[in-house]
Amino acid sequence: PTCAALNVLGIEFAGPRGLPVLPGLPDSAFEHDGQLTKRDVRASVLARLAPLPGELLWDVGAGSGSVAVEWARAHPANTAIAVEPRPQRAARIARNAERLGARVDVVTGSAPQALAGLRAPDAVFIGGGITAPGVLPACWDALGEGGRLVANGVTVQAEHELARAHAELGGELTRLAVEHAAPLGGFTGWTPARTVTQWSVVK
Ligand code: SAH
Repeated sequence: PTCAALNVLGIEFAGPRGLPVLPGLPDSAFEHDGQLTKRDVRASVLARLAPLPGELLWDVGAGSGSVAVEWARAHPANTAIAVEPRPQRAARIARNAERLGARVDVVTGSAPQALAGLRAPDAVFIGGGITAPGVLPACWDALGEGGRLVANGVTVQAEHELARAHAELGGELTRLAVEHAAPLGGFTGWTPARTVTQWSVVK
């Protein structure tokens, strides 16, 4: 059963006691246009971003804002800055944050330009724009000692950047291949999601 308050929010998956603060929420918790870091990958990203109370995240290439939202929901003192060039998506991020009670500021613009002048982050997630010149160096330079950086890519070109960064700066390079059971003829078959390459590092 779902509780009445959460039905008002239009979230049908929630248990009777509300939404967990531990990532990852089901994909259906977010309004999105397909550009969404899916639940299993998102949980892995947040585990490595490792939010502590009061910390700030930059979510670069924020899409629907799910990573920023989950970071901010981890603790009431947490905040995130979501950077996204497409105005419709930027507006969607603000709606998701509001609906899920997350403190997220949205910057409508492209990295690296849009990163200039932002308050220094404790962690950075790059979910889009990893191949754009200057994005990775700008994010890396913004972090202090102990800062965490996680970057995802699904293209050969993005993976190339991530492998290069891993060779230069260390950390972990991980590929996440998730399959979900779905109807296949009269049976049930495994449907693979796009494999995600993830680089994560602590500065
Ligand atoms: N993590 C997101 C999904 C990211 S999709 C979520 O869970 O919702 C990748 C996004 O990166 C797209 O919305 C795209 O518009 C954005 N993007 C691409 N290049 C960018 C750049 N240079 N700076 C900022 N955002 C960029």
